[in-house]
Amino acid sequence: MTTLRLILGDQLSHDIAALKGCDKDNDIILMVEVWDEATYVHHHKKKIAFLFSAMRHFAAELQDKGYSVHYTKLDDEKNTGSFRGEIERAIKAYKPDEIIVTFPGEYRVLQDMIKWESAFEIPVDIREDNRFLCTPEKFEQWAQGRKSLRMEFFYRDMRRDYNILMDGDKPEGGEWNYDSENRKPPKEGLLVPPTYTAQIDDITREVIDLVATRFGNHFGDLEPFYFAVTRDQALHALDKFITERLQKFGDYQDAMVEGEPWMFHAHISFYLNCGLLKPLECIQKAQDAYKKGKAPLNATEGFIRQIMGWREYIRGIYWMKMPDYAQENFLEAKRKLPNFFWGAPTHMNCLKQCIKETKENAYAHHIQRLMVLGNFALIAGIDPKYVNEWYLIVYADAYEWVELPNVSGMILYADGGYLASKPYAASGAYINKMSDYCKGCKYSVTKKNGPQACPFNYLYWDFFLRNEDQLSNNPRIGMGYRTLAKMDDDKITAIKSDAQRFFKAIENNEIV
Ligand SMILES: Cc1cc2nc3c(=O)[nH]c(=O)nc-3n(C[C@H](O)[C@H](O)[C@H](O)COP(=O)(O)OP(=O)(O)OC[C@H]3O[C@@H](n4cnc5c(N)ncnc54)[C@H](O)[C@@H]3O)c2cc1C
Ligand code: SF4
Repeated sequence: MTTLRLILGDQLSHDIAALKGCDKDNDIILMVEVWDEATYVHHHKKKIAFLFSAMRHFAAELQDKGYSVHYTKLDDEKNTGSFRGEIERAIKAYKPDEIIVTFPGEYRVLQDMIKWESAFEIPVDIREDNRFLCTPEKFEQWAQGRKSLRMEFFYRDMRRDYNILMDGDKPEGGEWNYDSENRKPPKEGLLVPPTYTAQIDDITREVIDLVATRFGNHFGDLEPFYFAVTRDQALHALDKFITERLQKFGDYQDAMVEGEPWMFHAHISFYLNCGLLKPLECIQKAQDAYKKGKAPLNATEGFIRQIMGWREYIRGIYWMKMPDYAQENFLEAKRKLPNFFWGAPTHMNCLKQCIKETKENAYAHHIQRLMVLGNFALIAGIDPKYVNEWYLIVYADAYEWVELPNVSGMILYADGGYLASKPYAASGAYINKMSDYCKGCKYSVTKKNGPQACPFNYLYWDFFLRNEDQLSNNPRIGMGYRTLAKMDDDKITAIKSDAQRFFKAIENNEIV
């Protein structure tokens, strides 16, 4: 009996469900680089190079372990360009009795997979993705009967279930969450340790050349290329984070410094999301560092919450709410994405820096994504479909299961408050407090109105004015509406007119 075992590009784990019970003498492992997946949105060049290189390295490791791997490279002459076409070719070549695959990361792919059994007339076993800590079914049970969901309660249950940072049945240190000790503004002269940088080997070089030739029109810089592309390298990157950055992760989690794209973040999302690292090992390594006195509790808890709480919570919402979630637009935002998101000039230094770093690294840290780029998209009323597409394209860690709830739910409030209890809207004051961007900006962050004023300042109030019907009943933003109620008419007129001038300028592709 021959089984065809398909491994997708984000399933690069040696203990992935599809490999369980593999008969190395008879089974075929199928891995494919397909045009459809690389171009259904025009992914960042670095993201494509990272994934193709990691896939090729993973296939070579499987071969070394004695598996029979059928690997289709993008430029193979007979490559059909789609999962279906490649499975059909493999069925013709190997005549398997069964296909086994692991549950995919995107609803779109799952819908196709479900149809394979009747299309190919072969049993297809879609196995649960064993790399996550909470299954979609378990999440749904947890969510049942709750009017609105809050990550914090889900996270506490996960800590108890996995016995992480627990002291008996109490949280370690007495609190579940140490954010009150976190999130300091950046200090002058803060020293950020250099990041992990992998060497480019022959496989990666070949892939970089391929991407340069075939995807030259995609957004983003291909080189310098420094991502880990094997599990060993990814483990190195993780260890480097635990020993050199975790200590200050909590303190500077929200800080942004010009020229310091990585700060004290872990830079492991790309490795976690494609399977080179496992969530529980990252959590346990952080917990071990804390127990050995090498990392403080506020940093350790904050880091663990991101992976055990946010990452799993976001995935649970995705599978529970798809496909409707992708269409949500509670605030009826309609504007197009301004050209500066693709690298056109802008005078707004915060956006300029975050987009420049995104273009260079296919990475921006959480607060850049949330409070600069996302905050702008929210208060400028950009249509969620354009914002989602942008985030899916530009980040090397972006797959729809994690990108969509973060964008539609967390930054755009497009789900009407299901994921986040209030919109994360902020004026320039927040960006000025948490970064040094405003020092190098043409606009004045202290000016509220007029052509020299920081656009975040008037767009913030215009956002609340525009969306009063949908938002004014939300008790968590009552304060904002009470402040607006006290503003005189001249001030309101100035806000509206500044916002209109700004919107007109971006529609006309003027530099703003
Ligand atoms: C608008 C927006 C879009 C985002 N899109 C993605 C995306 O496409 N892919 C992605 O992996 N993350 C996404 N995130 C979450 C987060 O920004 C990234 O996971 C993080 O910046 C990755 O960098 P890091 O590994 O240095 O993370 P750290 O800040 O060091 O955090 C550690 C880990 O926690 C996890 N994590 C933290 N926050 C989240 C979150 N909100 N959702 C899911 N996991 C989280 C990640 O696995 C991350 O590697 C998005 C956040 C926002 C606000
Ligand atoms: S002044 Fe406003 S636009 Fe300029 S960097 Fe600061 S927040 Fe951004």
